[in-house]
Amino acid sequence: MNRPLRENLEVESAADGEWLRCADCGGRLCPFGQTGRQPRFRRVFPPAKAGPLMKNSRKAVTCLKKYTVPHCGVLFDAQMVKEKHEV
Ligand SMILES: [Zn+2]
Repeated sequence: MNRPLRENLEVESAADGEWLRCADCGGRLCPFGQTGRQPRFRRVFPPAKAGPLMKNSRKAVTCLKKYTVPHCGVLFDAQMVKEKHEV
């Protein structure tokens, strides 16, 4: 039995446990309870990839991280990340 979790993600209840998986293709990401924000699902972009307004942002946003399902490429999470720079 599967239950929706959030856009493009669902929880699969199977004989081998509960899994976080893609609601579109059924590809398993990780055991349910672990974060799907794992480096192997991550692609990093410059902030302007989020939209033209981010190009001139004065905030210390340094990159856009997108998390996609490796099986089909569906986006399931994204975050703008601030990182400290040594000056
Ligand atoms: Zn998928």
